[in-house]
Amino acid sequence: MSVLILIDHADGHVKKASLEALTYGAAVAKQLGVSAAGLLLGTVQDDVAALGQYGVSTIHQVANEAFNSLDAQVYAKAVAEAVQSTGATVVVVSHNQTGKAIAPRISAALKAGLVAGAVALPDISNGFVVKKAVFSGKAFANVNVTSAIKVVSLNPNSFKVEAIGGTATVSALAITPAAARVKVTAVNKVSGEVPLTEAEVVVSGGRGLKGPENWGIVEDLAHVLHAALACSRPVADSHWRPHHEHVGQTGFQVAPNLYIAIGISGAIQHLAGVNRSKVMVVINKDPEAPFFKAADYGIVGDAFEVVPQLTAEIKKLKG
Ligand code: FAD
Repeated sequence: MSVLILIDHADGHVKKASLEALTYGAAVAKQLGVSAAGLLLGTVQDDVAALGQYGVSTIHQVANEAFNSLDAQVYAKAVAEAVQSTGATVVVVSHNQTGKAIAPRISAALKAGLVAGAVALPDISNGFVVKKAVFSGKAFANVNVTSAIKVVSLNPNSFKVEAIGGTATVSALAITPAAARVKVTAVNKVSGEVPLTEAEVVVSGGRGLKGPENWGIVEDLAHVLHAALACSRPVADSHWRPHHEHVGQTGFQVAPNLYIAIGISGAIQHLAGVNRSKVMVVINKDPEAPFFKAADYGIVGDAFEVVPQLTAEIKKLKG
């Protein structure tokens, strides 16, 4: 029995969401009195052994570059194989884009129960009961997983990353990637300073900005905050901004430390993609905008006046 945590990576670096998953998986292992190990498919530039500081004693690495680009089917098969060869009984992945694509496949391959979007450690006093977010974070459900192998995908930003020190033993695992049914012919790099789903700070614009020609003030604020850019759906639908910036129920779901919404009304479908942000700041000229109810801080004012002033003040603070 052990807990196996998938280490998700992109462009040679381990994603922040995986550090949360490692910390969470190590805590689950501690509860169960078993060991925790990471599973790294592919190669990264980061120090793999140093990931031991998040509480895992071993990192199983399949150092095959074929795994460096994500193929959900190939990944799920490899994780299932790793579970079988390591004897893991709990598999933890992040509930990010990668995890959402592969967790159900791992679960099907292993005939394992899946908790998608866990927000807390399991209650093991009577089974294996995990709290998860439902209805886009509007409610919670407690799910008792009774299968022998359990798969848990952890909602980003719901478990604090904790580095306790130490290093892990890196052990090579031999898994041959399954034949891919999808062939990647080119990768279009998303423009912008920071990848949206990994960003600590996101600056997002809505229809209140009136048109694409006004995005300079949003970009300037994002630049000083080293933030990723996002937008509401009508903005992407109107081709003011590219679709890869669209957040919400039908777009990307983000969980940054800080989300700044400019000229966005705060429709429920928008909130579904951003309400896991730690702190939300809303700038809107309408004091009745629904977003203010969800916001931690609100500025009632015209974005065209407020945003440049905010950018200038932050620049001053940064010297
Ligand atoms: P608006 O609702 O037009 O709001 C603009 C806001 O800007 C207003 O609050 C206004 O007061 C403010 N404003 C205007 N001028 C200024 C100014 N000068 N300064 C400051 N504030 C100003 N939406 C998403 O975003 N993401 C989704 O994934 C998504 N999925 C959907 C799925 C379905 C099935 C459906 C039906 C809808 C979905 N929507 C989604 C659309 C959603 O319902 C809203 O229509 C949309 O979020 C509104 O975008 P907005 O806030 O940019 O625009």
